[in-house]
Amino acid sequence: MKVIVLGGGASGLMAAIFASQNGNDVTILEKNNICGKKILITGNGKCNYWNADQSLEHYHSSNCELLDKIISEDVKRQVLNFFDSLGIVPKIKNGYYYPYSNQATSIQTSLILQARLLGVKIETEIFVKNIVKDGNKYIVETDKNKFIADKIVMAMGSKAASKTGSDGYGYELLKKLGHLLIKPLPALVKLNGAGNYFKKWAGIRQDVRVKLLENGNFVKEEIGEIVLTDTGISGICVMQLSGLIARGLDLNKEEVVIINFTPWLTDDALEFVSWMDERDKKVKNRSVTELLDGILNYKLVNFFIQKSQIKNNATWESLDNHKKLILAKNVVAFEQKIISTHSFEEAQVCSGGIPLTEINILTMESLKSKGLYIVGELLDVDGDCGGYNLSFAWISGMLAGQAISKENFNDKSKTS
Ligand SMILES: Cc1cc2nc3c(=O)[nH]c(=O)nc-3n(C[C@H](O)[C@H](O)[C@H](O)COP(=O)(O)OP(=O)(O)OC[C@H]3O[C@@H](n4cnc5c(N)ncnc54)[C@H](O)[C@@H]3O)c2cc1C
Repeated sequence: MKVIVLGGGASGLMAAIFASQNGNDVTILEKNNICGKKILITGNGKCNYWNADQSLEHYHSSNCELLDKIISEDVKRQVLNFFDSLGIVPKIKNGYYYPYSNQATSIQTSLILQARLLGVKIETEIFVKNIVKDGNKYIVETDKNKFIADKIVMAMGSKAASKTGSDGYGYELLKKLGHLLIKPLPALVKLNGAGNYFKKWAGIRQDVRVKLLENGNFVKEEIGEIVLTDTGISGICVMQLSGLIARGLDLNKEEVVIINFTPWLTDDALEFVSWMDERDKKVKNRSVTELLDGILNYKLVNFFIQKSQIKNNATWESLDNHKKLILAKNVVAFEQKIISTHSFEEAQVCSGGIPLTEINILTMESLKSKGLYIVGELLDVDGDCGGYNLSFAWISGMLAGQAISKENFNDKSKTS
């Protein structure tokens, strides 16, 4: 059986490897000069390829109940066994899996090697332009030649980080083949805030608790290190909320994050005032600035003092209750309105994609077009930071490849 895998990223390589079993003739068409370019930049070049905690709360989709059926115990075991069989030794930190080499190239090269060992043909620097269904076959038109296939696997990725090759063209091809598309939006991305003070806090990193409010209603909270930028906020805890925020903004909802810069202490401004009263009694003869030193980054202290309109050398005692409360609110409940996200180019992934309701969730085969399989980020699944997006790429690629191999096996047993 002739199988063409369109896109040689994480999910495409996985699909090709599993589809090549049982004598299938598998070819990957990849527009870059090498497969798996995006894998190389994952996890800051170390590739966080899996997470021990695969619970559903770390994934986002319009059809989470279907996702739950895809990520079964058996599937998780198979993916881990597969990486073990490639010779990848995991370095596991708080459940986050990296190759022991600490190098993403270990994952990329071992996948390419495995594909080649199994006889997968890899055609690079070839751009897929169009797909035409012709009876039971697919004709794949490229900038070089045409390919005819019995099965095709769409693995062209999302719109995120187009410098690595994926630019959203796969969505367009799938729409032409009759699929619906849930609007792709940037996720795991920095946020732009409303305000004119960002130059003052740019570069500061601080451990925080961030709560997301949508139209005033609590949605989700995250704890971790925030990175204050010259247009707003970033850091893993912020990026985890960014997909929800992008979707909310797209629906014209008001998105506000409440940042507590002293998450170890209290979320309550009045309690913070009492804590400062005690601190002022204990640590004597200090200005407010000096009292906050040791709790917060000094640049952030200066920012809060200015924002609360407190004089530089004012003492805590000299502030009236109103001023104390303003300062406390800035420190433990800083309200930051979000106006937009950074671009797709800067996003790690996209939310949205082809709905899971349009595929057979056991095989990833399209319900609209027989013989067409859809895997990876093209589908309406995105995950938190922590290895979830690659996890889904491996899982969906493996399921599609296995289904194709199984079908060939069944065909062969019928004819023998
Ligand atoms: C900076 C960054 C860091 C990340 N870190 C992590 C991490 O640590 N852990 C994690 O789990 N996830 C991480 N991700 C997300 C993860 O890399 C992706 O979710 C995953 O690679 C998606 O796999 P995919 O196969 O769907 O798409 P891709 O890996 O994007 O592969 C799609 C492939 O299709 C090719 N292609 C596209 N269009 C065409 C065409 N017309 N013709 C031919 N070929 C085409 C592309 O060149 C590309 O090689 C990160 C992403 C980024 C950008």
